[in-house]
Amino acid sequence: MYRTHNNGQLRATDINKEVTLSGWVQRTRDKGFMMWVDLRDRYGITQLIFDADRTSKELFEKASTLGREYVIQVKGTVIERQSKNPNLPTGDIEILVSELTILNKSKTPPFTIEDETDGGEDLRMKYRYLDIRRNPVRENLILRHKVTIAVRNYLSKKGFIEVETPYLIKSTPEGARDFVVPSRMNEGQFYALPQSPQTFKQLLMVGGLDKYFQIVKCFRDEDLRADRQPEFTQIDCEMAFVDQEEILNVFEGLTKHLLKEINGVEVSEFPRMTYDELMQRYGNDKPDIRFGMEFGELNEVTQHKEFNVFNQAELVVGIAVPGGNKFTRKEIDKLTDWVKRPQVGALGMVYCRYNEDGSFKSSVDKFYNEEDLAKWAEVTNAKPGDLICVLSGDKNKVRPQLSALRMHLAEELGLRDPKVFAPIWVVDFPLLEWDEDTQRYYAMHHPFTAPKPGQMELLATNPAEVKANAYDLVLNGNEIGGGSIRIHDKDTQAKMFKFLGFTEEDAKAQFGFLMDAFQYGAPPHGGIAFGLDRLVAILGGQETIRDFIAFPKNNAGRDVMIDAPAPIDDKQLQELHLKVEIKQ
Ligand code: ASP
Repeated sequence: MYRTHNNGQLRATDINKEVTLSGWVQRTRDKGFMMWVDLRDRYGITQLIFDADRTSKELFEKASTLGREYVIQVKGTVIERQSKNPNLPTGDIEILVSELTILNKSKTPPFTIEDETDGGEDLRMKYRYLDIRRNPVRENLILRHKVTIAVRNYLSKKGFIEVETPYLIKSTPEGARDFVVPSRMNEGQFYALPQSPQTFKQLLMVGGLDKYFQIVKCFRDEDLRADRQPEFTQIDCEMAFVDQEEILNVFEGLTKHLLKEINGVEVSEFPRMTYDELMQRYGNDKPDIRFGMEFGELNEVTQHKEFNVFNQAELVVGIAVPGGNKFTRKEIDKLTDWVKRPQVGALGMVYCRYNEDGSFKSSVDKFYNEEDLAKWAEVTNAKPGDLICVLSGDKNKVRPQLSALRMHLAEELGLRDPKVFAPIWVVDFPLLEWDEDTQRYYAMHHPFTAPKPGQMELLATNPAEVKANAYDLVLNGNEIGGGSIRIHDKDTQAKMFKFLGFTEEDAKAQFGFLMDAFQYGAPPHGGIAFGLDRLVAILGGQETIRDFIAFPKNNAGRDVMIDAPAPIDDKQLQELHLKVEIKQ
């Protein structure tokens, strides 16, 4: 038997017991006549003591050879510890070792396996199996396990059935590029890996399963900006005979359940806001509403002055930064530079200090007097001591710019408290999205999303105005879920494909199976998918999903540990009927 107890288990009540423990050597302290070893496993750390007076010479010498991360087994007696460690659950005891077996030696690890490690990201990823020995990483993986179990139990209790759908499929349109897999048995043909199980879950509804879910890998070949992974996990769901309201209620219930189970937090009913309202109030369809700084539209109160920048702008919009009047001129200049960076792209920033004594001082004092500026304060809800930051320009540009500034400031001012959870439902999304580059409309969610009742006619006359039966769940500034009520009749689906630029043949070739299925009694249905990686990260009080994935890929989509992707040999290429030509 390798162990009678784990390393987080023994207490003062176990004193005098004979025990066997196994684990890794976290560190050793050798005083010449006395030696201590911290023995670690998943459950904790137990201190071992080798005492030259009380143990044999050979044992003591053997213990002196132990290095970091050696795997050992010891037998010994639980004794009371001289200097107790109140920070350690096992801190009242130690093991007086009588037998030591070295189960495996270890090279000196490339970074320290402690909570705060000296290993950089690349090194930790290359030796991820060592990284996983560290408490923070292991705890993240355990948290992920707890979340997935809670999800499965909750949905199963609500009558959902977990069904696996295939990975080797045909393209699914979620707006990204497909990863493709060549078929050996079908020369010149390729599978696509699912960007999501979208069409399959709809077919399960046609199949009458009524309530489906799956914790499933999805694959999207995108440029990996901002904390994305080419393969990621969704909690994917679909329901039949439901309207939007019922779907929102079930998944609000699930989210509340998780917040309570995992974080011990009770959240009351989630606010619902329309897409249009959010764009106006936060310039963003996934706003963090844990702090104020709502947008104030200033066109009316800035007009009729000589300041043409504002007069000519489609939108003049500001936010009040709480306590921002304390910023020095230099700090404000830095903010201006920040919004002018190409990533944000504003042309400049106007600011107005709201002094504690109630007076104002702005960067455009030449054009606006105190009375004018007081109106800015009113519109942006500013208080004495705040700083009002104002941007202007085209609506579609200036809103995301000010939204970026709002998030940047909230981060700087520490307003994004990871222990506070502020979920919202975003509803009434536009059905379509105009793309400047290709000069055409795309489905904002995906082509299976149903327009709001009675809006199909608008498609011909005013497509940008058509609203969809689509919704997102946003938590602390992150989209954690999104879904829609689907089109369930063949004619509407055919019309939608046509509008989105699919020829009849294309639509048939890509989605003929779905259109066929719709002819055999497809029930009204709808669903949602949550991004599990991000959800777990947020519940864990963080935003980087990589820390919650056992073996993540880096920003170039590489797994640096196994060194993938990698070339394949000629024989494999031949079998797959492929020839690789690398363009310089
Ligand atoms: N398939 C969608 C997605 O992956 C979610 C849904 O519509 O249910 O975003």
